[in-house]
Amino acid sequence: MSIQTVGIIGAGTMGNGIAQVCAQSGLNVVMIDVAQAAVDKGLATIAGSFDRLIKKDKLTVPEKEAALARIQAGTDYAALAACPLVIEAATENEGLKRKILAQLDALLPAEAIIATNTSSISITKLAAATSRPDRFIGMHFFNPVPMMALVEIIRGLATSDATHDAVKAMAEALGKTPISVKNAPGFVVNRILIPMINEAFFVLAEGAATAEDIDAGMKLGCNQPIGPLALADMIGLDVCLAVMEVYVNEFADSKYRPAPLLKEMVAAGWLGRKTGRGVYRY
Ligand code: NAD
Repeated sequence: MSIQTVGIIGAGTMGNGIAQVCAQSGLNVVMIDVAQAAVDKGLATIAGSFDRLIKKDKLTVPEKEAALARIQAGTDYAALAACPLVIEAATENEGLKRKILAQLDALLPAEAIIATNTSSISITKLAAATSRPDRFIGMHFFNPVPMMALVEIIRGLATSDATHDAVKAMAEALGKTPISVKNAPGFVVNRILIPMINEAFFVLAEGAATAEDIDAGMKLGCNQPIGPLALADMIGLDVCLAVMEVYVNEFADSKYRPAPLLKEMVAAGWLGRKTGRGVYRY
């Protein structure tokens, strides 16, 4: 199946990034948000991102104008009615996503594929909110979408091969590198990344090294672009803790036990960059 038009739900951080990449790749985009202010902000973010590419000689002004002209944006779901693929990138809330997905399911043609960009909710569970679990899939982009090469393609229990192959081809057409993943908490990247960050808190609490030296060790010894504790401050310590709590509940395995120091810092309101203090002070 060749996909020429992509619908996107949500014009926030991820939605506008996905819209930008699709439009830059020559696809038509219909980007829908619940709030007109979010639509306007999303469009402004895309235009700003194109301007930065123009300054770096990576895009021309006519290319920017052509890409922006391919994006139709608004608040009316009816504009999505003819889309063969809609990517849901709305707020991470299961109840909200179920409502949006049921609404899409009723609106879209029977053969259309619905994808979700959720970071943490079960793809199989979200698929069950639609009448087309075979044409439902996870398409997990990374932030910032225009910069990050990876897309995790996550199959729910009922996802068909045809759906998987169409979405994989589409990710490649966007210039991304897809990896295929079975539905499981954290998929692949966050399943490995967040426990690594959690372990860094255990190491810090045990006094094995300072925060600076733990981060320097992982940067210089493992070629990571940023140390795990500095990364926790960027992600948000509360987000890291919430993800570990999902793993410990879902897998019923104590190896996912959140580090007591991580819990303590979250309890203190030291959530990272967003609160001015996490492992480090900002
Ligand atoms: P965000 O808060 O920046 O944007 C979410 C947008 O959804 C908002 O503009 C909001 O108005 C809109 N929205 C809410 N209800 C809606 C509805 N009923 N219909 C249409 N739009 C609606 O959030 P985000 O960071 O872009 O995250 C979106 C999704 O992507 C989440 O599922 C998140 O888990 C996932 N994700 C986020 C990241 C990240 O680093 N931010 C990375 C990968 C995946």
